[in-house]
Amino acid sequence: MNKGHSEHTVDIPGEFYSFSSGALFDHCIDCDKYLLEKDTEYFIEKAIRQYEGYKVRDVIFEYAICFECADRVRREMSVESIQNVENFFMENVDMSRRMEIMMENPGNPQEWISHCLLKETSMNELGEFQLYAQCRGDKMEMGQMPYMISGAALEEIQHLLSSRTLDELNGFMDRHFGPPPDLMELLPSRRVVLI
Ligand SMILES: [Zn+2]
Repeated sequence: MNKGHSEHTVDIPGEFYSFSSGALFDHCIDCDKYLLEKDTEYFIEKAIRQYEGYKVRDVIFEYAICFECADRVRREMSVESIQNVENFFMENVDMSRRMEIMMENPGNPQEWISHCLLKETSMNELGEFQLYAQCRGDKMEMGQMPYMISGAALEEIQHLLSSRTLDELNGFMDRHFGPPPDLMELLPSRRVVLI
């Protein structure tokens, strides 16, 4: 994850608003830090499920997390897991295609998330996916993020993680969202945080 500043920012689009409040995320899920100060950097992750005809959407989980807490979570992951995920991204992201989308749509985050970063599947064809963004205050940075990852790709990523890393991520999820209801046990990608 590149955490450098991006020169280019846009207003945070509705896709990245909190589904539960209908407004911008304003606090870090872990330390409760206020996020909408001008220079406060944070990430947003949302897991979304689409139904029948894809007209109805549910948010499986969503949160914003400040850089400091995201770093801490990441440090708890095993080096091997992080390396595996980074290799997977390097092998599967079509960088020239990605650059093309970024250059052609510099101020249009919807285009950046319209297809799975790893598999190029269109969002319209997906039953489940996750959205990732890097924000600063009330702006979204158009840099390495935003991107979308399909449920199928998340499932593959899950298999690249060590059991220690999975335990850490499960702990994070349980702490903030409680133990998974039966339905969510069927969703392997629930367990991937901030890859
Ligand atoms: Zn925090």
